[in-house]
Amino acid sequence: MRKIIGTLGSHCSLQVLKGAKDEGFKTLLITEKKRYHVYKRFNFIDHVILVDSFRDVLQSDIQNRLNKLECILIPHGTLISTLSSDEIESINVPFFGNKFILRWEADRNLKQKLMLESKLQVPRAINSKSEIDELCIVKLHGAAGGKGYFLTSDQNGFEEGFHKLLNDNVVTDENELYIQEYVKGVPVFLHFFYSPISGDIEFMGVDRRYESDIDGISRIPSKHQLNVPTEPTYNVIGNIPLVLRESLLEGVYQMGENFVQASERLVPPGIPGPFCLEGVYTKDAKFITFEFSARIVAGTNLYVSGSQYSEFLFQNGMSMGRRIALEIKNAISKRKLDRVLT
Ligand code: AMP
Repeated sequence: MRKIIGTLGSHCSLQVLKGAKDEGFKTLLITEKKRYHVYKRFNFIDHVILVDSFRDVLQSDIQNRLNKLECILIPHGTLISTLSSDEIESINVPFFGNKFILRWEADRNLKQKLMLESKLQVPRAINSKSEIDELCIVKLHGAAGGKGYFLTSDQNGFEEGFHKLLNDNVVTDENELYIQEYVKGVPVFLHFFYSPISGDIEFMGVDRRYESDIDGISRIPSKHQLNVPTEPTYNVIGNIPLVLRESLLEGVYQMGENFVQASERLVPPGIPGPFCLEGVYTKDAKFITFEFSARIVAGTNLYVSGSQYSEFLFQNGMSMGRRIALEIKNAISKRKLDRVLT
């Protein structure tokens, strides 16, 4: 029986492994050698596999070691930004959750399809630069943490932004960019957990991101802002806690339920475990979803000792990392481990 929980040393690994330890599991970290000096400080990490690059997890000798130790891998954002969907699916070690839905997170077209199937309200997708007729945000494919995004209100602005990315060797073709209506309001990230063992959807917490340099622009007086030459960027530096107006919770749970059901229809076995709906509350308090993450998000790092919402469901400081370990524990005791692994 698998009794070790492992993950890549980045993103939310401390929270995941601390939570696993608190639930009685042994823990394993796969980390790049250059980061080891950080992780060696924490006594809840039992095993360490040192690698030159996270991509080494594709090597069969690493996978054999993980299987010999009977490890369950917890996927997170670093796995998605480091490996392609084909590479992730090729890894021959059990993953917690549905590894096949990670492809739907990484591919913008599949992502849009799942969001629409979930009846989420989404920003208008702009199919061509000539159709840009309002403020738009131009994005790169994949989990780039908001790096390289730019805003534009017309085709010229798009071309200018594209050429800058081209010169910086970030993209090679316009088709690598995705244009979306810029939704005006406040960005909010909703953290959910779905348990196929209990059948419950749990709203575990909410955060907003602290992004550089867009979140610093308001600190520059407007007369100087006009002279700032660079396009604002959305590079995530950290996360800020938030609570919602209680009357918004009804809509939050409805969106979570719709997303779980749509995932089960489109990508069996659906979405066991954590996921995040990412969007903007508009001035009429409507939630427009611009993204989802089909796995644990780093915003949950805020709530290592539980969140305002997890405290209503669990009494013992339930982080998302710990919730994952608890689900594995419950699945093992009910002999339903296959329901939460792929
Ligand atoms: P993402 O990497 O897609 O999560 O987006 C990074 C940041 O860009 C978000 O935190 C938001 O601040 C912003 N953003 C993304 N999409 C939109 C949108 N359609 N409208 C407004 N802001 C957006």
